[in-house]
Amino acid sequence: MSSSDSSRRSFIKSVGVVAAAATCGAAGAKAQEYKPQEQKKLTQAAARYQDHPNGMDACGTCPYFQFPKSCVLVEGDISPTGWCRMFTSFSPLDRGAHQ
Ligand code: SF4
Repeated sequence: MSSSDSSRRSFIKSVGVVAAAATCGAAGAKAQEYKPQEQKKLTQAAARYQDHPNGMDACGTCPYFQFPKSCVLVEGDISPTGWCRMFTSFSPLDRGAHQ
């Protein structure tokens, strides 16, 4: 092996280390910036919220409702007898358990 082969390998290794460090640094910064708990809720208008039920469906039976008067998805005061287009009767935790 010549000395130029050795120095070329050394150079390639150092470039790889620098590239890996740069990639990890960028990913680390993005992970720190991502704060899902700070995601905004929908406005009541965007969710087409109404302060009365839609037939038998109402916020009080929706899994996104939070007692006494708020919602995980929609901002502002939410009535247990209200309703919006995100209404569901399935629990968000109940995924993939059906056969
Ligand atoms: S119906 Fe809409 S506003 Fe009411 S709890 Fe469910 S997601 Fe929230």
